[in-house]
This record gives sequence, C-alpha cells and structure tokens, in this order.
Amino acid sequence: MGDIETNYTLAKAAITKRTAKMVEKYCLQYGYQDEIIFSHQKMALGVGDKEIEFLLHRFEEFSTLFPYLEVWDKEKLKEYEPRVVLDKDGNERPENIVGIGAKGEWTTVDYGKMSESMIENAQKQEGKTVDTYFNSQVTKIEKSDKRGYIVYVGEEKYYADFVVVNAGAHSLYIAHEMGYGHHLGCLPIAGSFYMTNEQMLNGKVYMIQNPKLPFAALHGDPDVLANGNTRFGPTALMMPKLERYKPGTYMDFWKTLRFDKNIAIALWKLLKESDIRSYIMRNFLFEVPILNKYLFLKDARKIVPSLQLNEFRYAKGFGGVRPQVLDKNEQKLMLGEASINPGTGILFNMTPSPGATSCLGNAERDLRFVVKYLGKNFDEDLFNQELTEGEYCVLPEPLESQKARVNLIRAEIARTQEKFDSSLSHSNVDEEFWDKPQSKL
Ligand SMILES: Cc1cc2nc3c(=O)[nH]c(=O)nc-3n(C[C@H](O)[C@H](O)[C@H](O)COP(=O)(O)OP(=O)(O)OC[C@H]3O[C@@H](n4cnc5c(N)ncnc54)[C@H](O)[C@@H]3O)c2cc1C
Repeated sequence: MGDIETNYTLAKAAITKRTAKMVEKYCLQYGYQDEIIFSHQKMALGVGDKEIEFLLHRFEEFSTLFPYLEVWDKEKLKEYEPRVVLDKDGNERPENIVGIGAKGEWTTVDYGKMSESMIENAQKQEGKTVDTYFNSQVTKIEKSDKRGYIVYVGEEKYYADFVVVNAGAHSLYIAHEMGYGHHLGCLPIAGSFYMTNEQMLNGKVYMIQNPKLPFAALHGDPDVLANGNTRFGPTALMMPKLERYKPGTYMDFWKTLRFDKNIAIALWKLLKESDIRSYIMRNFLFEVPILNKYLFLKDARKIVPSLQLNEFRYAKGFGGVRPQVLDKNEQKLMLGEASINPGTGILFNMTPSPGATSCLGNAERDLRFVVKYLGKNFDEDLFNQELTEGEYCVLPEPLESQKARVNLIRAEIARTQEKFDSSLSHSNVDEEFWDKPQSKL
C-alpha cells in the first residue's frame, strides 16, 4: 500500500509498505491465499495531460521503493482494464490516460476473517491462555489501587496489568473519561460505497487524490465478498455519531468532540478551502436517495466512462466511520492514526484509514511498549523472521527501460499537442482529433 494511493508521500509510503508486508507475510505463512488474502492487478489512473504528468513524475520517484510498478498506456489499459478505456459504444474515451500499476501483488485482505484466524492461532499456542468476550461493552476503566487497571463490563470486573483500548472513535471517548487526551477531539467521517451489478473492473483502480482533501480518492475495487462485483467509494460524510450502524452514539460524539474555540478554528481552517467546502456538500448529497446516484455516476465515470445508472446501486450496510482526530493545540485535523500513551500502563488507539493495513505495525509498536513497561521481553528474531522483510528497495533490471517508456509517453503527448496546435493555426481544425488522439498519431 502507498504505491497507488497518490495522497502518500514517499516517506509515508515506505512506512506503510513495511506494515502492509507484515499482513501479507502473516497470511502467506498460514497458507491463506484466496481465502483471506487475494491478488488482483492494481493501478492509479491519470486522466488528462496534467494528471498523466503528475503520475509519470510520481512513478520516477516511487519506483525505487516499489520496483514492481509499471506504466500502462491506453493500449495496455485496453488489454488489462477495458472498461476504463472504452465508452458505451466501444469507442476510446477522448482524454489521454495512463495507469501506474502492478500485477501479481497481494492487494486485498478480508480483515474479518484475518481477525478470526489470529484468535484461533493465538489460542493454539501451547502454555498460553487467550480468552475473547464478544458483545461485551466496556463501561468503565479505572486505575486499581494495587496494580494495573480494573475493566468494567457492566457488573463484571476484569483485572489487567496493561490495557490497550482499540475501540475506534470510542477509544478517545474512554480516554477522555479517564482524564487523558483532552487536547484531542474526534471528527467521525462516515464512508459509503456503491456496488455494481456485475464485475466491471479486473483490479483496483484509484483516481488521483486532490491534495487539499484529507480523505482517500474515489476508487473502484473488485469486492471479494460480493462475487468480485465492483465497489466504488468511499464517500466521506461528517457525521455526529461515533459508530455508523449502532444507535445511541450521538451524545458520545458531542462529548468526544469537546467543542471549544480551538476546535472551531480547526474546523474553520478546513471549511475556508473552497475545494473542501464543495467536497463536503457533495458528500452530503451522496446520502440523498435518487439524487446520490446521479451525482455519483458523474464521478465514477472518470474511472468507467460507459457506466450507466442502472448498473450500480448504493451499497446499504457497507462502510463505517473513520475517526479523524482534531488536535486542539495545533488547531488542525490530524491525518492518519493517533495514539494516546500516558505512560501509565494503558494505550488508546484511534485508527482511521489505513488502520487495517497498518494493524500489525501498530500492534508491533504497542507490543514493544507493553513488554518494556511490564519488564518482559519477546522473541524479536522470530518476530522479524515471521513478519518482516529485510530489504525493500531492490531495484529490478527493467526500471531504466520503464523510465524510457515514461519519456516516450511524454513525447507522444507533446507530439499530439503540437499537431493539434498546428491544425488550429492553419484554421483547419480536425473536429474528431481529441476523440481518438491515439489513432491520429
Ligand atoms: C469507509 C472506510 C474506508 C476505509 N478504507 C480503508 C482502507 O482502504 N485501508 C485501510 O487500511 N483502512 C481503511 N479503513 C480504516 C479501517 O477500517 C480501520 O482503521 C480499522 O477497522 C480499525 O480497526 P480497529 O479494530 O482499531 O477499530 P474498529 O474496527 O472501529 O473496531 C472497534 C470496535 O470496538 C467496539 N467498541 C467501541 N466501544 C466499545 C466499548 N466501550 N466496549 C467494547 N467494545 C467497544 C466497536 O463497536 C467496534 O466494534 C476504512 C474505514 C472506513 C470507515
């Protein structure tokens, strides 16, 4: 991850790559291929010359970290992902397009099944006791007079030397109740998806991120839980509740936001950007029945130009809430995950995207802290051997030829532009020129 999501800087992509590899290595060592982890082709799609140049430049920068990335022009895209290229009459879309992508990588994980497998595998460890309690709401956590913490589940009490709170947006709620993290507030951003009636894409297709927007760009994915039908999304809707499909979390939202002057300034900083304002408004409208499909169609056609209204529907019950954290001291929205570690034997994790991809990396960070705090140790060599990869940046042979290809695409765009300009200057405009630029070369 980080290779096709264009909101990642190289540094952030390097960190995410390591943690994503941990998930991959976990799944492969237990043979969960095509059961929990799946391989699809994937790409970031550039539409129009400006986006293409952005992507080609990004390719040059990122291909050292992700040597498997390839540059796909319109002809290659016709072969790999035809619905990205062709309109409903089978003609090429008019704009120039380029994909920067990869084939044969592990791209998709069923995180529900992966969590179940982790519990099962932990329970199989000899000499260890691992208990799980489902449907048990933690109502209070308090410091014990003797040692550690008392965790209350209704009337039941559990004693712990160390507590890690991974309760989504409610982690911050619990932290606040215990007197921690008052400099942070939570802005829950719900995400919805739209599902097509059939498989439209062979792999993941990401659009280019508007750098002013803090949320992931729209993408299309084959959904492994829906027969490979294409799932478009997510949208991003600010919502005054901490959990999407659970009643009674509105009050928790207001308590966790801790609205004051600093939060107002942080929100003002977001809203004064016109791109963000119109994005927020558009995302509200994405939740309005009927209208939402018309609006979404316009956005999704940037990926699949031939998409029709009757080919997709709002995916009811899909998605959830990303707990984006507002930092009151900095008066701004924090991107990515946030963790509160007061150093007293308790941790609180808030995990918006890419919290799933980085779950094992976060677990490693917490593990290191827990063992240190409790004066224990863990088998680091075994950990590294099982879950991490030593070397990430091995350059493959064909990189230079890929770069040459990038320059060919650039030259091709320049030639096309030149030809178009010269036809203009001779007052002899070729009306069809931009409809099929490839075929005119
Ligand atoms: C629309 C959308 C798109 C996303 N896309 C991506 C992506 O592309 N890549 C990626 O890596 N991540 C993505 N994420 C983020 C990812 O889903 C989360 O980071 C991940 O699910 C966080 O896992 P978690 O276990 O920390 O928290 P959660 O999955 O939020 O689980 C927390 C659980 O704690 C429970 N809980 C709350 N309070 C209590 C309590 N008091 N007692 C007991 N239980 C409690 C909640 O009910 C919930 O079941 C996306 C999220 C959304 C919503």
